[in-house]
Amino acid sequence: MILETEIKFLPGIGPKRAGMLKKELDISTFKDMLYTFPYRYIDRTKFYKISEITEDLPYIQFKGKITRFETVETPRNKRLIAYAADDSGDEIQLVFFRGIKWVINKFKADTEYVFFGKPNVFNGKINIVHPEAETAGDEGNQINSNIQAVYSSTELLKDNFLGTKAFNRFQSSLLTLVYHKIDETLPEYVISQYKLMALKDALLNIHFPQSPELLRRAEYRLKFEELFYIQLSLLSQRLNRLQKNSGFVFPKIGDNFNNFYKNNLPFELTNAQKRVIKEIREDFKNGKQMNRLLQGDVGSGKTLVALICMLIAIDNGFQACIMAPTEILANQHYQTINDFLKGIDTDVRLLTGSTKKSERKTIDADLISGKINILVGTHALIEDAVRFGNLGFAVIDEQHRFGVEQRAKLRSKNLIAPHVLVMTATPIPRTLAMTLYGDLDVSVIDELPPGRKDVKTFHLLENKRLVLFGFMRRQIAEGRQIYVVYPLIRESEKMDYKNLEDGYFAITQAFPAPEYVTCVVHGKMKADEKDFSMNCFASGKANILVATSVIEVGVNVPNASIMVIESAERFGLSQLHQLRGRVGRGAEQSYCFLMSDVKLTSEARKRMQLMVRTGNGFEIAEEDLRLRGPGDIEGTQQSGLPFNLKISSLAKDGKLLEYVRNIAFAILNEDNLLQLKKNSLLRGMLERNFKKTVDYSAIS
Ligand code: ADP
Ligand code: MG
Repeated sequence: MILETEIKFLPGIGPKRAGMLKKELDISTFKDMLYTFPYRYIDRTKFYKISEITEDLPYIQFKGKITRFETVETPRNKRLIAYAADDSGDEIQLVFFRGIKWVINKFKADTEYVFFGKPNVFNGKINIVHPEAETAGDEGNQINSNIQAVYSSTELLKDNFLGTKAFNRFQSSLLTLVYHKIDETLPEYVISQYKLMALKDALLNIHFPQSPELLRRAEYRLKFEELFYIQLSLLSQRLNRLQKNSGFVFPKIGDNFNNFYKNNLPFELTNAQKRVIKEIREDFKNGKQMNRLLQGDVGSGKTLVALICMLIAIDNGFQACIMAPTEILANQHYQTINDFLKGIDTDVRLLTGSTKKSERKTIDADLISGKINILVGTHALIEDAVRFGNLGFAVIDEQHRFGVEQRAKLRSKNLIAPHVLVMTATPIPRTLAMTLYGDLDVSVIDELPPGRKDVKTFHLLENKRLVLFGFMRRQIAEGRQIYVVYPLIRESEKMDYKNLEDGYFAITQAFPAPEYVTCVVHGKMKADEKDFSMNCFASGKANILVATSVIEVGVNVPNASIMVIESAERFGLSQLHQLRGRVGRGAEQSYCFLMSDVKLTSEARKRMQLMVRTGNGFEIAEEDLRLRGPGDIEGTQQSGLPFNLKISSLAKDGKLLEYVRNIAFAILNEDNLLQLKKNSLLRGMLERNFKKTVDYSAIS
C-alpha cells in the first residue's frame, strides 16, 4: 500500500518536482521511483588523481577544490569554467552552461568536494561538463554503499537539480521508509527453488549495492521476475485460448490435395516444408482454433505450404483466403496459385482495391454462396462488405505489414474463428518471438529448396561504379536481369524521389535504349502503371528494374540475378536482407551490391560487414536486435513491444528468458488456472498487472 503513495510526499520532492518527474520519467508513485533503476555504477572506493584523468575513462569521481572561475562568452553560448585542483597541484576544467550564478555561489574556496562525471576533451584540454558534486565527507546521511548508482536523467531534470545525486538521496530516504514494508512478489517456493534474493534486498542492492556479488544477485532476481511474469502471462493466455476457442476440424485429405500432390507438385517438398505441413495438419485435427506463425526466410517456399493447407481446408468443405500487403504481391500470389492449380477443379479469385465494380459484385455473391474456394487479395479482403459463406482457413502473408486490428478483423470473418496462419519472412529472433508471440505456436522453415546458391555480396563505394556497370552489362549479355533499388524513407520523401529519378536517368545513360530496356517502379505510381512496369520486368522484357523499396516484399523473378542497393547505409538490416532475397531464386549465381557513402557511422559499417559475411536471416535478425534494440526491429514496429522492460534486455538476456519460460510452463502444466494455494500470489500478480495488456488471441 505504502508503495502507491504519490511521489510528491517523499521528503525533498513536493508538487513542483513531482510534476517534472512525472513528465520526464513517468514517475508518479513511490513504487515508480523504486523501480527506476540505475543504468550504471561507479566504484566509490576509487578516487582518481586529476593527473590520472583521461578522456577515455567512463564516469569517475575525484576530490578537489575550486581554485578560480572563468566566464567565456561566444555568440552561441555562455559558459562558466570552474578550475578544480587536487593536492598534486594538477588542474581540470569543470564546465557549466546553465545555473552559472548558482555554481559560483555554491562552491566555497578552501572546501574539498567530491566531483562525479564523464571526462571529455575540448580544445585539447580534459574537462567534465556539468559534473555532480558533494562536499567531501558529507556522504554519511544516506544508505552506505561503495558502488554508486548512476541514473539517467534529462536536461530539464538536471536543470532542476534532479540529477543522479538527487536520485541517490531520494532512493535512500525511500528505502529507509519502505524497506520493511516491501511485499514479496514471487511465491516462497519459487524463491527457494531458484535461489533468488528476496525482493526487498534486491531493491536495496540495485540502488545501493553492498558488494558486486550482491549487485549481481539483485539484478538476476529482478530480471528473473520481470521475464517470468511476462511469460507466465502469455502462456496462461494461450492455455485459456486453447480451452475456450474451439476450432473447425478438418479430418480428411481429399481429391484436391491428392491430385495436387500427385499431378501438379513440380518438385519434392523440402523436409522443413513437410514438417510444417504436418504441424498444421495436427492443428487442423485437434478441434482447437489454430493461431500459428510461420517463419521462413525469403524464398523458403512458404506460399506453397499455405496453398497445400488451403487445399486441405477445401477438401473438408471450407473456403480459404490469403491476404497480401500489396497489390503487386496479391497479383503474384493469384498467378502462382492459378499456375500451381492448373487442371484442378478449384475456383480461385482475386480481390484488390482495383477490382472492377461489376466483378466485385459477382465475387461478393460467389463468396457468400460458397462457390469460391480460394480468395486472394489485399486488405480489401477485410472490408466489412466482404462476407464468406464458410471461411475455414485464413493466411496472412508478410504479417508485419498489417496492423493488429486488421488481423483481428480477418479472424472475425466467421462466427467460429477460422484457423489462422501468419507468414513472415522477417526472421524474428527467438527471444523476441517468445515475448511478442508467446502465445502463438511458431513453425519455422529453416531450409531453402535445393540448388539455391548463396548470393555473393559486396560492399562498394562510388569509385567502383564503372566496374559495376561493366559487370552488369556482361550479366545482361548472358540474359540475366537486374534490380537497382533506392531507399524511400518518409521524412525526406521528396529527396528520395529525386534520388530515384536521378538514378533512373544515370542508368538509362549508361544502359541506353534501344539496346537496353529499363523500367521503373515506385510507391507513387498508380496501381496499373506499377503492374505494367512489374510485368515488363517479370516477363523478361526489361533488363533493369529501377525501384524504391516497394519491391521489398515477396516479388519473385527467378531470372533476376543482380541486386544493386543504392545508399545501402540508409536501410536497416532486415530490409537489406529482404531485398537481397529477391535474387538467388533461379539456377544462376546471384550477386548483391551494397553501394554506400564513404563516410559511414560505425553501426552502418557493421551492418554492411554483416551482410557481406552472412546470408543467414536468423543471424542477421539477432544482430539487428543487438544493434538497434527490440523496439526498432522491423516487424515489431507496428505491434510494438507490449511490455516495458525495465531491467532485462531481449538482446542480452535470451538465455534467462528461455529458462524462466520453462519454469512458467511447468507451473501452468501442474496448475492450469493457478488455483493451488501456493500459486495464489502468482494469480494475483497476473490479475493486477497484466489485465490491461492486449488480448493475444485476437492478434492474429
Ligand atoms: P517465400 O517463402 O519467400 O514466400 P516462395 O513461396 O515465394 O518463398 O517460394 C520461392 C520459390 O521457390 C518459388 O518459385 C517456389 O515455387 C519455389 N519453391 C517452393 N518450394 C520449393 C521446393 N520444395 N523445391 C523447389 N522450389 C520450391
Ligand atoms: Mg512470400
